[in-house]
Amino acid sequence: MSKLPNLTAAESIPDAAMAEVTRILQSGDLFRYGSDHSPVALLEAEFAQALGSTFALAVSSCSAALFLSLKALGLPRDAKVLIPAFTFAAVPSSVAHADCIPVLCECGDDYRIDLADFAKKLPDCEAVIISHMRGHTSDMEAIMALCDAAGIPVIEDAAHSLGTTWGGRNIGTIGKVGCFSFQSYKMLNAGEGGILITDDEDLIAQAVIMSGAYEHNWQKHPVLHSVFAKWQNRLPLYNLRLNNLSAALIRPQLIALPQRVAMGRRNHDHVAAILDTSPWIVVPSSLPPEQRAPDSIQFNLNDMTDAQVDSFVCQAASLGLKAEVFGRSIDNARAFWNWNFLRDNPDQPKTRAMLNRACDVRLPSRLSLQQCDVVAQTILKALDTTMGREWPNN
Ligand SMILES: *Cc1c(COP(=O)(O)O)cnc(C)c1O
Repeated sequence: MSKLPNLTAAESIPDAAMAEVTRILQSGDLFRYGSDHSPVALLEAEFAQALGSTFALAVSSCSAALFLSLKALGLPRDAKVLIPAFTFAAVPSSVAHADCIPVLCECGDDYRIDLADFAKKLPDCEAVIISHMRGHTSDMEAIMALCDAAGIPVIEDAAHSLGTTWGGRNIGTIGKVGCFSFQSYKMLNAGEGGILITDDEDLIAQAVIMSGAYEHNWQKHPVLHSVFAKWQNRLPLYNLRLNNLSAALIRPQLIALPQRVAMGRRNHDHVAAILDTSPWIVVPSSLPPEQRAPDSIQFNLNDMTDAQVDSFVCQAASLGLKAEVFGRSIDNARAFWNWNFLRDNPDQPKTRAMLNRACDVRLPSRLSLQQCDVVAQTILKALDTTMGREWPNN
């Protein structure tokens, strides 16, 4: 078998970004409010345009974007916010940061929100965050219908699903606010960074001020200026701004996004088709309205004991492949039982069962199909070694 490609390396930074970074460093103009059409302001305009939303605000991380979204919704202290039990620890953390209380909703073995549990817990909550985990999109039709009927705002955590569409609409434009990450292992790599998008001018005005547009720096944002007047000097300044260097890294990658999405989807579907031939693997299919933008693949290990699952992970590692089963790796930040900072964290048995069998392998869009074959064959080989020749008869 040919050599495994490097799956853990981040995307390299395009040459155009390096030239722009040098220009900015020579000018010293790193602060987003240092000039009128700064790289951060340009990124916001380009991102809003690319996604089809009215406003965008670039900030220091997706966690900051989630926090500002909750703050800009004006939620009172101790308001309950419904979040999926399968998400990254940053999500309950942003809720805690906003002085609110996360309520966890069960997720099924297709990694998506369990709608029955969602409907049951929604009436107690004042806001909802939907994490499209690894780009797996929950049924947004059903979720929006329930939330609209109850008058409850939806924040989309699209940190890891930039480029995914639902019924032809970009993920992140369906709820009231959409939040994205530019951390190195997301679709666009700036090391750190985030952005929120919305069509709501009162929400963006508050988020802009709280992100650190002190005094009249909000005048550098293309938002109706009268909307800011009522918030002047009335909101805390959390200073969660993005700097110009980060924006310069992202802008050329945003232009390349459609290409990255197409290659990521091609690679994912290629590997999924090979893995699906194994009796031990189930790759959950997407819901019909969803067009994914994957940079990784998730699959469930079926009919295997805990010991066999752990042994598979070890076999894969010995072949040089990092395959992580969310719930079986120590201190995994996506396993809700590790969120011991929550005051109340009841068990979510469905989500727990899923996390104990759901395996995660990075699959960068830069891989060739031959390299994808090597990844798929390595997974199958590790499974064969673990399970011996004992194939179930079905
Ligand atoms: C990465 C990630 C976040 C946090 O993004 P940061 O920019 O690192 O704060 C939140 N939610 C999900 C689903 C993520 O994958």
